[in-house]
Amino acid sequence: MQKYISQHNLDTLLDTLIKRGIRVVAPRMNAGIPLYEPLGSSGEVVSDTLPRRSAKEAFFPVCEDIMSYKKEGQKVTITDIDPGRFPETVLFGVRPCDAAAIPVLDAVFSWDYKDEFFLERRKKTTIIGLACTAADDACFCTAVGLSPSASKGSDLFLTALEGGGYACDTCSEKGEALIANNQALFDGPSTSNPIPFAEPQTDTFDLTKVKAWLNDHFEDPLWDGIATRCVGCGACAFVCPACHCFDIVDEGTEKAGKRRKNWDACGFWKFTHHASGHNPRDLQPKRYRNRIMHKFKYYDDKFGQTLCTGCGRCVRICPVGIDIAAIVEEINKK
Ligand code: SF4
Ligand code: SF4
Repeated sequence: MQKYISQHNLDTLLDTLIKRGIRVVAPRMNAGIPLYEPLGSSGEVVSDTLPRRSAKEAFFPVCEDIMSYKKEGQKVTITDIDPGRFPETVLFGVRPCDAAAIPVLDAVFSWDYKDEFFLERRKKTTIIGLACTAADDACFCTAVGLSPSASKGSDLFLTALEGGGYACDTCSEKGEALIANNQALFDGPSTSNPIPFAEPQTDTFDLTKVKAWLNDHFEDPLWDGIATRCVGCGACAFVCPACHCFDIVDEGTEKAGKRRKNWDACGFWKFTHHASGHNPRDLQPKRYRNRIMHKFKYYDDKFGQTLCTGCGRCVRICPVGIDIAAIVEEINKK
């Protein structure tokens, strides 16, 4: 059922949650860069800009310890890090392109191996999505079947209204519980109109057609053309809300150290480097091809969904101007 919350009551809600000891993560400025980070108070929220990195970090941090070891004489002690230690969290102000990526990640982190670190955080997090009222030239959520008002992945979804305040749509039991626990801050539905959504100016891709072309073009001159420019920096994967590759690394000495889970990227030449020295993706065209294949074919083959929500971050950040939307559009026209 739809509810209404004023801006004042929304600020009160965030401050109340923080006072109750709940970790509230939202877009805030850090050294001039908007990022999803824990808030000290509601006044820190910046809601008019897409954070530089995505909301996936709330569940899948850049780097985290999963185990430590210590050797004293002949005795070796291994200590698992307890995933149960994660705090209850509210992730606020999540853009539709970021929120929609979270169920996409659920599929891979709960598939053959249940990743307790990801799943424990998911269990303890309530996601409050926010409709977009601003888009730039890099946004293309509508081309991959989403929209600036898509509530996929959100537990509660807010839409800014003309005249102030937000319409609140509950999308899950977690969203219902958040409203039930803070009822005094919510009113019945408002009759005000939404502030116009920001519709990206892109054509919709026929993702079935794109996948059909990829099925038949593992070898194609397209890959050489793109990859002569790609420098393999991995920035596109690190800012992406849906990329999820990681590496497990032991750091320390013979006496003591930690086992860590660190983000990785298929654009890096070492990503598929075997201990034998052989590298099946020895050249950059093979690595960039994997990026497109994984997003628009392999993930769909396995989980029935596309691994791109059209947030445009990789387009904005690529140091050599590689535009994934333009590449998929080119494939779409073939
Ligand atoms: S591939 Fe690029 S546009 Fe698509 S979700 Fe990832 S960062 Fe966003
Ligand atoms: S950001 Fe651009 S240059 Fe860097 S790996 Fe991605 S496509 Fe290549």
